[in-house]
Amino acid sequence: MNVHIKNTVPTVSNIVVFFHRPNIMESMKRLQAYKFQILPSGEQRRDMRRFAGACRFVFNKALAWQNERYAAGKTVKFSYTTLANLLPLWKQDPAISWLKESPSQPLQQTLKDLERAYLNFFAKRADFPRFKKKGHADSFRYPQGYKLDQANSRIFLPKLGWLRYRNSREVLGVVKNVTVSGKQGKWFVSIQTEREIETPAHPSTAIVGIDMGIARFATLSDGSYFAPLNSFKHQEKALVKAQRAMNRKQKFSNNWKKAKANVQLIHARIGNARRDYLHKATATISQNHAMVGIEDLQVRNMSRSASGTTGTPGKNVRAKSGLNKAILDQGWFEFRRQLDYKLAWNGGQLVAVPPRNTSRTCLCCGHVVKENRLSQSRFECVECGFEENADLVGAINVLRAGHARLACADTSPAVGASGQEPTEATQAIAA
Ligand SMILES: [Zn+2]
Repeated sequence: MNVHIKNTVPTVSNIVVFFHRPNIMESMKRLQAYKFQILPSGEQRRDMRRFAGACRFVFNKALAWQNERYAAGKTVKFSYTTLANLLPLWKQDPAISWLKESPSQPLQQTLKDLERAYLNFFAKRADFPRFKKKGHADSFRYPQGYKLDQANSRIFLPKLGWLRYRNSREVLGVVKNVTVSGKQGKWFVSIQTEREIETPAHPSTAIVGIDMGIARFATLSDGSYFAPLNSFKHQEKALVKAQRAMNRKQKFSNNWKKAKANVQLIHARIGNARRDYLHKATATISQNHAMVGIEDLQVRNMSRSASGTTGTPGKNVRAKSGLNKAILDQGWFEFRRQLDYKLAWNGGQLVAVPPRNTSRTCLCCGHVVKENRLSQSRFECVECGFEENADLVGAINVLRAGHARLACADTSPAVGASGQEPTEATQAIAA
């Protein structure tokens, strides 16, 4: 990882800020996910593939059912209960009676996932739910019925029986659910737990503002910055090439399978590099600062506005999608999510500030005008002539705004979204 530390900020080195520690909670709930590889028998392997397939089938069938109703002009409101009640009827259909062989609860959990996807869509947090494809994140979740036997490194799952797992660390807390997932022939369990912990007092009293950018992934108000995460760009060419090679092969032939494995390998490499980078960056920042101010960017909306809809394509699609791709590539959203929960774990807090004017306000005289930011990288005040790196100016304005926000709302424990449930994929590595 490229972390550039520059401790000297020539013109704006001594901004005085007072950090009032928020009321410290006595304890908090800590959600944590532990991911282990499992070592299934051949039969268990086949069953897991079947169960994942059944969940995917139910998800897609429910989504199609919902879409049909919508097309027929009926209510669009998604009802988990309605769909959960359809499930027994589907199982009686002789054509799909094989659904009966799968455990019931993971099928219901799939409908819960679809419900959540709809809620996220209506809350504008996500795109409209899509059909699941085979081989794409095969997984299913048990809300109960499991038994974890850590002493013997095994876990019991309904309709699968006991499975051995690579026990690399102790699972702490009460198990809330277990997700089984398969990727490239390997199978994993992600064990989500909950436990009460004492809220620690953050060892540091330092506070910092962060400006997210393209040229620099994150610029801190102390002048240090994180270089852009270009793992995707670097590997993009390799990926395109591998995908083309795959498309040239006869589908399902041995050569096609080999080419496909190669595509998946590159995908996995990109994902790993990105996760590793983000975890290191967020760990460093959350350990060294008790309060972190960050712009409240709606990453989702930015990416939506560029693509537009089929009827009305977004304006400047090409230019914008380049920017958006970079945003998504760099995982700003994931960065913020990780900062949020890691700060909460350490007894610090994330303060989200409205991004309004953070990039165009002069640090020296307070003049706000978009002409202050002449280029992507340079800030020059048209009023007083103050000059500085534009990202650093942004970070310091975010810090000031965050501080103002804290001062106004010093009783609320977190202005950010802490307490948000960490997803298993990222958290297993974090923990
Ligand atoms: Zn100025």
